[in-house]
Amino acid sequence: MERKVRVRFAPSPTGPLHIGGVRTALYNYLFARQQGGDMILRIEDTDSQRFVPGAEDYINEALAWLGIKIDEGVREGGKYGPYKQSERRDIYREHVKMLLDAGKAYIAFDTPEELEAARAAKANFQYDASTRGEMRNSLTMPKEEVDRLIADGHKYVVRFKIDSGRDVEVNDLIRGKVTINSSILDDKVLYKSADDLPTYHLANIVDDHLMEVSHVIRGEEWLPSAPLHVLLYEAFGWKDSMPEFVHLPLLLKPDGKGKLSKRDGDRLGFPVFPLEWHDPKSGEISSGYREKGYLPHAVVNFLALLGWNPGDDTEIMSMDELISKFSFAHCSRSGAKFDFEKGKWFNHKYLQEMPDNELTVLYKPVLEANGVDPNAFDDDYIARVISLVKGRINFVSDLWDQSKYFFTEPESYDEKAVKKRWSAEMPAIMKELIEVLKGIDDFSSAATEAIVLGWIADKGYHLGNVMNAFRLTVVGECKGPHMFDITELLGLDETVRRIERGIERIKLPE
Ligand code: GLU
Repeated sequence: MERKVRVRFAPSPTGPLHIGGVRTALYNYLFARQQGGDMILRIEDTDSQRFVPGAEDYINEALAWLGIKIDEGVREGGKYGPYKQSERRDIYREHVKMLLDAGKAYIAFDTPEELEAARAAKANFQYDASTRGEMRNSLTMPKEEVDRLIADGHKYVVRFKIDSGRDVEVNDLIRGKVTINSSILDDKVLYKSADDLPTYHLANIVDDHLMEVSHVIRGEEWLPSAPLHVLLYEAFGWKDSMPEFVHLPLLLKPDGKGKLSKRDGDRLGFPVFPLEWHDPKSGEISSGYREKGYLPHAVVNFLALLGWNPGDDTEIMSMDELISKFSFAHCSRSGAKFDFEKGKWFNHKYLQEMPDNELTVLYKPVLEANGVDPNAFDDDYIARVISLVKGRINFVSDLWDQSKYFFTEPESYDEKAVKKRWSAEMPAIMKELIEVLKGIDDFSSAATEAIVLGWIADKGYHLGNVMNAFRLTVVGECKGPHMFDITELLGLDETVRRIERGIERIKLPE
C-alpha cells in the first residue's frame, strides 16, 4: 500500500527563522499539499543552551504570514503530539533504554577534561570503535561501577555504538544514492543525563518514526547526518518504514561562493529573515521582508524558484500553481544563488497584479507616516493616483516618492529643471495657460490635452519648454506620468492654484 505523505518542518527555536528555513518549510508544504498529505510543525527545542525566547512565536507568525499552513503542531494539535520535543522526555528516555538494552548504545562517563586529554594525546581522535575501549564507559567498566556512578549522581551521556567499516547508503530523492563508510562516523551522543534531554539525532529519528513521517525534506547542511540517521533506524529495527530523504540545495551568497549569511544581507542591504526580529538579549533589530514592504506571495514565488524550476521558464506562479507543479525531479543539486534583485522584481510584478483598491489600503499608513491624513482623500482618488504611478514601484513605500504631489503641493522646485525650463517669458505664458485651462468645460485628460496642445501650436511656443514649465509648477520637478492625467485628477482649481503659486515662487535662474 502507498504510504500517506506526511512531512514535517522541524525548526529549532534558537533565533529568528532564516530565509533558507522558510524555503525548506515552503517545499515541505508544496509537496504535502500536492500529495494530499499532512504538514507537521515540530519544535525541536532539545538544545536548552541555545533556546531563545520568542523564536517559536516568530516561526508561527512567519509561516502564517506566508500562507504556509500547518496541519499538526503545537498550536494546531493532532494525534501524534506533543509536537514540542521538550515535552516528550518520557518518550526519548524509553527509546534510549531500548537501545541500551539491545546493546546498540552505551553509557559514557568521560568528563570534558578527559575528552580534551584524549584529543590532545591522539591526532584526529574520535570517540568510535577504535577508541571506545580505552575510555570510561559501560563497555569498559564493570556493571556495578556503572550503576554506582549513576546512583551517586555522576553525569553521563549515552552514545550510539557504531560498527566500523560498513558502507551506509542514503537514498536521496534529489541526489540519488549517497554512500559513506561508517568508520568516519563517531559514536554520537544521543542523550545527556545533565539535562535529561536527548540530542537532535535521537529525538529527530524517534519523532519522525512515531509521527509516521514519510519524507524528510530539509536543508543540505543535514546531509552529513543522514547516514547516522539511517543507522539509527536500523538499530531500532525501523528500517522498513524509514522515510525518504530529500536534501535541498544551499542558498548561496548573491555575489560569490559560500552559504548565504546574515552578514551578506547587512552588507548588501537586504533582509535574510521573513519578519523583523528584535533580539531579546542584545536588542539588535534585524530587518524582515514583511516590514521592508514585500508581499507574502512575492516572497513565496521568489523562494520557490531558489533551487527548483517548473521545467519551463514560467516565473510568476500562484501558491496553487506552485503546488501543482512542484517536483523533486526539478530541484537542483547545486546551491542556488540568492539574487535579491530578482526578489524585488517579483515584488514589483505582484504589486502590478494587485487591485488598486487593495493597494489603497496598504498605502494609507504610508501617507500617514508622511504627514498626510488619508481620510482627507476619497479612496477612489487614492486608487486612481496609484494606478497612474504603480508601474514605477517595487514597494508600497515607493508610492510616496512617486505620488506625493497628488497629496501635497510642491514645497520647492527642482533647481536643474528650473534652470533648463524657466525663463523670463514663462510667467506670462503660464498666466495665459491659466486662462486657457479655465475656459475648458471638460477637464478630462484627453480633452485638456487637445486644447492645451492646440494653444501652444497656435502661439508658436516651444512645446517642450512650456509643457515642462507647466509640470514644474504642478509637480515640483520634471517627472511623473502623463501631464494631463495628473491635471485631470488634481482638478481645475488645484491645477490653477499650483500654477499661480509657481509663478510667484519660482525664481529666474541667474
Ligand atoms: N532541528 C533541525 C533544524 O533546526 C531539523 C533538521 C531536520 O529537519 O532534520 O533545522
